[in-house]
Amino acid sequence: MNIATNHIPDRVTDTQSVILTGDRTTEPLHLGHYAGSLRNRVALQHSHRQYLLLADGQAMTDNAATPEKVASNVLEVALDYLAVGIDPELTTIAVQSSLPALAELTMLYMNHVTVSRLERNPTIKTEIQQRGFERDVPAGFLCYPVSQAADITAFKASLVPVGEDQAPMIEQTNEIVRRLNRLAGEPLLPEARALIPAVGRLPSIDGISKMSKSAGNAIPLSASPDEIRNAVRRMYTDPDHLTVSDPGKVEGNVVFTYLDAFSDDPGTVSDLKARYRRGGLGDMQVKNHLEEILQTLIWPIRERRARLADDPGEVMRMLRDGTDRARKVTQETLDDVRAALGLFHWT
Ligand code: ATP
Ligand code: MG
Repeated sequence: MNIATNHIPDRVTDTQSVILTGDRTTEPLHLGHYAGSLRNRVALQHSHRQYLLLADGQAMTDNAATPEKVASNVLEVALDYLAVGIDPELTTIAVQSSLPALAELTMLYMNHVTVSRLERNPTIKTEIQQRGFERDVPAGFLCYPVSQAADITAFKASLVPVGEDQAPMIEQTNEIVRRLNRLAGEPLLPEARALIPAVGRLPSIDGISKMSKSAGNAIPLSASPDEIRNAVRRMYTDPDHLTVSDPGKVEGNVVFTYLDAFSDDPGTVSDLKARYRRGGLGDMQVKNHLEEILQTLIWPIRERRARLADDPGEVMRMLRDGTDRARKVTQETLDDVRAALGLFHWT
């Protein structure tokens, strides 16, 4: 398969607004990514200059002991991108750790953020708890919002399609941007806006936390038909909906949350909700409907992914191209920032 990338210019010279997002390369991507971000990215690549980062550097902040896992998932996540319809003709995909300008920007920005500000970040707080770090938080992990600020600003991105958990990162990025612009005395870097879809946070099937790779509760985009069926069967519904004729609760009912996220027929979903609330609609019936939707969504992704995985060399070539282009763009931004702040330069 030929994955060409030759139509993307090297410099951001036009007025098209720039999108930057990415994913940590810790595991293959899941339905939460699809609902929270990938779907938006596939749509937006036609109207925007889009960059996607395979965030292996950020993944290392809580996987330092297993770098080989982080490295091998670079290809896995790249396959997920291509399988859902990210087109390398329209979107530049780059490997974060191969862009040294990002690390340099992170170092510079860290001086503009306090430790207490980082500790107040609500997503970081939750993640520290989930990972059981307590007081032993790796410094890199606490600072990953700063590295995300470096990622976003290095591409001069103004739009960031992300799930709800990432909103505090964009806020933190903009605080840094405003500080640097004030120091530079010019609009050096653009502020960024988070683009969060209606389903900002897809829950895991138990409904307790967000579907997440590290929590081990994810339905991957390459899930087999059996995995999909089992996941839907195990989904949390209304525990008080004991018999079909009982009235049931839709709020907090994971099956309905998933229907909201993945059905393209909102009329049918609201009919099902009404019948469920009234009583007379069984969990199994709703689950069967959801399963059909998920099977239909995932099978073409799974098939395309399997085909692409047959030729990893071609995917690697595409990644190398994208990373080369991204290296130029990010180095230019670093040069601009250094000059605007008046950092040391060789004469
Ligand atoms: P990890 O557990 O390793 O942090 P993750 O599942 O949270 O993995 P990330 O790579 O951290 O995935 O997130 C990448 C993007 O996907 C972010 O924009 C994030 O908001 C979005 N995302 C991840 N999980 C969900 C979810 N359950 N619902 C909506 N968006 C999500
Ligand atoms: Mg995450």
